[in-house]
Amino acid sequence: MKAAILSIGDELLIGQTINTNAAWLGKELTQLGIAIDVSWTIQDTAEAIHTSLDQLIPKVDLIVCTGGLGPTKDDLTKHALCEYFGTTLEINKEILTRIEDFFKRRKREMLEVNIQQAALPVDCTILHNYHGTASGMWFEKDGCIVISLPGVPYEMKGIMNDEVLPRLRDIFPVQEIYFDTLMTQGIGESFLAEKIEDWENKVRGLGYKLAYLPSPGIVRLRLSSEKGASEKERIQELLKEVQERLPQHVYSLGEIPLAATLGELLMDRGLTIGTVESCSGGSISKELVRIPGSSRYYEGSLVVYSYAQKENVLGIPHEQLSEYGAVSKEVITQMAINGQKKLGTNICIATSGIAGPSGGTKDKPVGTVWVAVTDGEIVFAKQFFFGDNRERNIQVSTLTALNLARCFVLGILAEKKEATLV
Ligand code: ATP
Ligand code: MG
Repeated sequence: MKAAILSIGDELLIGQTINTNAAWLGKELTQLGIAIDVSWTIQDTAEAIHTSLDQLIPKVDLIVCTGGLGPTKDDLTKHALCEYFGTTLEINKEILTRIEDFFKRRKREMLEVNIQQAALPVDCTILHNYHGTASGMWFEKDGCIVISLPGVPYEMKGIMNDEVLPRLRDIFPVQEIYFDTLMTQGIGESFLAEKIEDWENKVRGLGYKLAYLPSPGIVRLRLSSEKGASEKERIQELLKEVQERLPQHVYSLGEIPLAATLGELLMDRGLTIGTVESCSGGSISKELVRIPGSSRYYEGSLVVYSYAQKENVLGIPHEQLSEYGAVSKEVITQMAINGQKKLGTNICIATSGIAGPSGGTKDKPVGTVWVAVTDGEIVFAKQFFFGDNRERNIQVSTLTALNLARCFVLGILAEKKEATLV
């Protein structure tokens, strides 16, 4: 069973949009046991669509196309496919009613172009879109299935989950690949590999596949088996061995945001949290708020970027700032303590650092970041050196702070003995 992904859109070719659809489709189809033979990105032209299909149909069993199904003139995939498969468009009454309802519910005016979204090829299976107005289409030619989906990522995923994947599972009862992912923070992939070398040899010896998937601040560890879901329990047991070995770094089994793991811990313990942010500029707050139900433990934040704000809003003594600088153990410790008092939360996280690209010195180069956590009784502060990319520094500071708070709450901070009494 071989598949091709055909991503249609000039914006993908010129780098204006990152092709996240192809990545998601690749992952989902692979998980189903369908091998991705090729993934092409092509222009929004009928000619490019036709030549690609000519080349791909004899090569693979399934082609998933995305993009160009919208209501505007630049969206011509539907017409190009209609022409290619020798069929015509006709208004589909059921789909038209759905589109009318879609606009009614949103109290939006419906235009002629929207009505045209109900014009669909006569000879195809229509794939319902419960998240938007562009239906997906399923064609078959010379033993090859050709599926066309909208480009908008959440609409594409919706149709795949609701309409396509269940059908593919029925048609191709292939052995699904089963995998689980362990999420780690604050440990680089080579360090991680070194720490779990014996475990890695063991799991590989047992026939499992292991992949290290790094992204800024986080390394995901994916363990997979080609024997399908029957391996779920064994895979989870094996991953738990790593979790037990590295509790300061492993924050979840399964792709859960770090802020959600922290949130659950706070909720279990009936604790509240707040943040006092300088270099992370509110990013920790944003991560916490993203999690549904966070109002039960997240109380608020103070973003104190300048010296003046640190002094006036947070009450950091002027002398302390001028003597040590904002990026120092003394100031970060004071920020956490004052923040906890001002916000009145059980836990307070503070950040202060030099995100760059300018502002670094010999002693404090760009990427120097201090993070502190306190519960009002002890305060723990730690310095990090992240690197010279501003965006990455903000992202990594945010994740590092969340993980430090997680370890603090769990009482597993390796260096807790170094913490200062408030
Ligand atoms: P629309 O109804 O919005 O016109 P469409 O099916 O015509 O949907 P496009 O016009 O190709 O799709 O793209 C719509 C939006 O989805 C754009 O913002 C585009 O950047 C995004 N998009 C398109 N293809 C991809 C892709 N492969 N990966 C990620 N985003 C994509
Ligand atoms: Mg479009």
